[in-house]
Amino acid sequence: MAKFAQVIVDVPTMQTNRPFDYQIPTLWQAQLKPGMRVVVPFGKGKRRVQGFVIAISDEASFQGQLKPIIQVLDLQPVLNTELLALAKWLATRTFAFQISCMQTMLPSVMKASYVKKVQLVAGAPAAAKALFHGHSQLDVADLGSAELKQVLALQRQHLVTVSYQVHDRAKVKTVKAVQPLCSQAAYVAMAKKIPANAKRQHQLLDFLSQHATAKKPLPLPQITAATGLTLTHMHTGEQKGWLKVVALETYRDPYAKLAQVPRTQPLTLTAEQRTAVAQITAASEQQQAKTFLIEGVTGSGKTEIYLQTIQSAIAAGKTALMLVPEIALTPQMVTRVKGRFGQRVAVLHSGLSQGERYDEWRRIERGEAQVVVGARSAVFAPLTKIGLIVMDEEHETSYKQDDMPRYHARDVALWRARYHHCPVVLGSATPSLESRARAQKGVYQLIRLKKRANQQPLPEVTVVDMKNELKKTKESNFSSLMLQALRQRLVHKEQSVLMLNRRGFSSFVMCRDCGFVLKCPNCDISLTLHMDTHTMKCHYCGHEEPIPQICPNCHSRKIRYYGTGTQKVESELKQLLPQARVLRMDVDTTRRKGAYGKILHQFGQRQADILLGTQMIAKGLDFPEVTLVGVLNADTALGLPDFRASERTFQLLTQVSGRAGRAAKKGEVIIQTYNPEHYAIRLARHHDYEGFYKREMTLRHQGGYPPYYFTILLTASHPEENEAAKKIFQLMNQIKPALSPQAILLGPTPRAIARVNRRYYYQMVIKYKREPKLESVLAQIMQENQARNGIQIAIDREPLSFI
Ligand code: ADP
Ligand code: ZN
Ligand code: ZN
Repeated sequence: MAKFAQVIVDVPTMQTNRPFDYQIPTLWQAQLKPGMRVVVPFGKGKRRVQGFVIAISDEASFQGQLKPIIQVLDLQPVLNTELLALAKWLATRTFAFQISCMQTMLPSVMKASYVKKVQLVAGAPAAAKALFHGHSQLDVADLGSAELKQVLALQRQHLVTVSYQVHDRAKVKTVKAVQPLCSQAAYVAMAKKIPANAKRQHQLLDFLSQHATAKKPLPLPQITAATGLTLTHMHTGEQKGWLKVVALETYRDPYAKLAQVPRTQPLTLTAEQRTAVAQITAASEQQQAKTFLIEGVTGSGKTEIYLQTIQSAIAAGKTALMLVPEIALTPQMVTRVKGRFGQRVAVLHSGLSQGERYDEWRRIERGEAQVVVGARSAVFAPLTKIGLIVMDEEHETSYKQDDMPRYHARDVALWRARYHHCPVVLGSATPSLESRARAQKGVYQLIRLKKRANQQPLPEVTVVDMKNELKKTKESNFSSLMLQALRQRLVHKEQSVLMLNRRGFSSFVMCRDCGFVLKCPNCDISLTLHMDTHTMKCHYCGHEEPIPQICPNCHSRKIRYYGTGTQKVESELKQLLPQARVLRMDVDTTRRKGAYGKILHQFGQRQADILLGTQMIAKGLDFPEVTLVGVLNADTALGLPDFRASERTFQLLTQVSGRAGRAAKKGEVIIQTYNPEHYAIRLARHHDYEGFYKREMTLRHQGGYPPYYFTILLTASHPEENEAAKKIFQLMNQIKPALSPQAILLGPTPRAIARVNRRYYYQMVIKYKREPKLESVLAQIMQENQARNGIQIAIDREPLSFI
């Protein structure tokens, strides 16, 4: 029997980023398995922490006396063999702590919280006891400041001890249920002995005799709904020995309302869809860990391909994982998947309460759900026997996590696919350049869908040059063409979607006469406005110059911060089109839980004519009555200080254009811009992804950017600006000798938002193709520098944002 356990402890520093040996108390030796959570003592003093058992053995590697495990928190492993291996890989791959990786994989309620408790020592004087009001211990969090002062004084006199206790927040929800205890005949006999006027008792006995053979307890809410009998009546029955009231484990069902979603049947596939489904299904059946990239125009019916390939995977007794970006996980998408697979679907996203997430997770873990739909972290869903992994809108940046572990869900999906020998399907109308380039090289298999499923052409796109408009109208957000098109929709009782791009709001400077955006002379990246220093800065090389007063290009004085808010646009819209019913969707109107779904529902019910929103409205929506899509400001994304600015703009315009004309009626798109000649806008206008891909690849090649180079972003932060700067230069000097002359170092520079939460951030970027020594140098940096002297180091592999 195993006597020792290797435990990864919940102390996130690099010094503890390795397993520690503990003794397994005899009591648990037969039960303890890798993947279970335990409570262990750690370090000096009385500190107790949560940990994950990753291995058990008969021999300990550590010589000397080992501390015993204090408590075992799980009866079954919460991380299976696959996920334990994945956590290990992920930690190395993303320069993260193993404990952070493990915690990321689990619902957040399973992350321990620590309570600080104080206890009286034996023989403490009465004055000290008074503070405890008869309790044996106190929770420090409950103490007021006066009491806290007293406790601290007692601690100095060694009259109280302080300890940390691990608190598991995961709570199983239960309902009251009724278990009949007697036979049918017995109930009938009892009924005869009860006075006729005891109506409720008769009713209860009647109910019990009908359900006397029930093997499982009957949920009380259902009994109450059917008979009107309540818990009080059950308690009476319990006293008489007729029944037993028990607690029945149940799930919080966030989609209870969707339970009645009408089931849908598979559609007859178009020729393009059919070839795609055939290839993917074949790979799934032959257990090939192949990656497909579906490059399909908006409305080409990618979702139907996902649904039918998932269907064959589960028909073969396997499970399927479908990832969608948080923002696209609309009730519409959930309805589509639930409509096809009903109760077999579990949904995971941040809109659920922690309890709901935990319940969905348990349904997956117990094999009760075979299809998982979810946002980024659903990639860790505890599915076994995965037969297919789908990643919709694979280009979306929300698939990358900003905090440790800084992972990309795509990398994790590919790892799991190799583990399960199953295919991965990446889908998008505008694949990321990285993925499209991999398909070019044959690493991924490219599947192109060129037609819409409804046989309609893609919508006609008109580009309005706002430079000319400005001369006509006085700084309005609406061109005359846009207004005219909106009016026309009102007359015809059709719906419109208006997008206001708020990304990069006010952070750059643009000339309103010529569209000129100030760029770095060294990097060809837009400069970012820093109000604190009143300068324009380059986030890549550190170049800095004064904020221009006149346009360097056309000498106009109308050069200014660019940006405008949805609220302002809404009020202008109300002035211009008082008869229009407008729904606004932005961070302000969707903050409350369920608000997002409600707005979409209202719009779907045609309670509004215009849906005005930020890029939130660009993704995945499918409203048949929308015939006009307007983009009010296509330029804001172009101004971002990021080499992916054009790619983001092209993606966004293509996505939002795709919302028009999805059913029988023809769609129209109007894009307002100050840069009508920009290739991202020109090519989006012609729905020309392939053209964009070729053009952008040339530029990336010239600029030495991904996918031609790998990138790593290194950030150092400290409350003192000096310290952060000193550290980043020191790191640069440490890394430089390990690099070949082909590698390129950018920076160090202060980060765009240089001070956050009273910390200063400095960063540098490493661009490279092949650097065998880089990994070990970075791992060493993490090891040496973590959380020392207030310094924090972050290493981000393939960052998607440099701001
Ligand atoms: P995408 O995700 O590629 O933008 P969707 O999957 O949303 O496209 O499909 C667009 C529309 O076409 C949806 O309304 C969908 O129901 C419909 N559709 C998809 N495939 C078919 C098909 N084979 N026959 C008829 N309609 C289809
Ligand atoms: Zn620069
Ligand atoms: Zn100008």
